[in-house]
Amino acid sequence: MPSEISLHSKEKLQSWLRYFEDLGIQTFYRDRVPRQASMNESMSEVEETPTSQVSAAKAAQLPQIRAAAPKLQIVGRSPSLFEAAERVEGDSLERICGELAGCTRCKLHRRRTNIVFGVGNPNADLVFVGEGPGHDEDMQGIPFVGRAGQLLTQMIIAMGLSRDDVYIANVVKCRPPENRTPEKDEISTCLPFLLRQLSNINPKVIVCLGSVAAQALLNTNKSISHFRGQWVDFRGAKLMATYHPAYLLRNPHAKPEVWADLKKVMAFLGLTPPKGKRG
Ligand code: URA
Repeated sequence: MPSEISLHSKEKLQSWLRYFEDLGIQTFYRDRVPRQASMNESMSEVEETPTSQVSAAKAAQLPQIRAAAPKLQIVGRSPSLFEAAERVEGDSLERICGELAGCTRCKLHRRRTNIVFGVGNPNADLVFVGEGPGHDEDMQGIPFVGRAGQLLTQMIIAMGLSRDDVYIANVVKCRPPENRTPEKDEISTCLPFLLRQLSNINPKVIVCLGSVAAQALLNTNKSISHFRGQWVDFRGAKLMATYHPAYLLRNPHAKPEVWADLKKVMAFLGLTPPKGKRG
C-alpha cells in the first residue's frame, strides 16, 4: 500500500474538493461499508487510499485545501462523493438547473447555444443517460431531439412508454464542438450535476447510452463491450449500459442487442411491450 497519495490523486482530490465547495458541499462522510460488491466498485480504477492515509496526507500534503478541508472525514472514490452529493440539503432538479444557469465551469460553455439540462418525469423509474448534446439539442436545449434522439424516442415507445414517462439527460450539458467526445475535465466538471439529478429522481433503472455515459458513471475506462447488457448495482439503482442510438444509426445490425438489453429493463420494471413489439 502506498504511504503517500500520488500527485495525480492529490490533484484529483484538490479539484474535487474545490468543485464540491463551489457546489456548497462542505462536509464529507466516511465511505460506507459496501452493501454488496458491485461492478462499480470492482471496476473502479481510481487509486484507493485508506482513510487514515488520506487524513494524514491531507494535513501533511494538502495545506492549500481551504476551509472545507478541516471538515473532511474522508474523501474516497467518486461513489462516496455521489453519496455526499445525494445529501445536498433541499436539493431539487430546479435548484440544480438554476446552479447550471450561465455555467462557465468548463470550456464547453464558449460555443454552446443552450445548456441541455434534461427532460422528462422528475419521478421516473427509468432514466436514460447520453453523452452530450449534439447540434439539434444545442439549438433547442432539449436532449435527444436529433436523429439519434428520434431513434431513442422510437425505442422508448417500443418499450410501451413515452418520453414523458422517463427522464433523459446527458453526462455533459453543453455541446462539444463538432460533436467530439467530451474530454475528461469536461466530464468531471459536469458529472456532479448528473449525479445530483439522478439522486433527486431516484430511478429504479439507469440506462447508459454508449460508453461515455457508462464509463463516467461506473468510473472506468473499460470498453462498453465488457459490461453492455449486464446489470450493475449503482447506488441503490440498477444500471445497464447499452449502445448509443447514434451507434445504431451507423450499425443497424446491433439493434437486436439493444432490444435484448431493453427487454431486460422492461422485465425488471414489469413493463410489457405493446402488441407487435414482442419477441
Ligand atoms: N447524443 C447524446 O448523447 N445526447 C443527446 O442529447 C443527443 C445525442
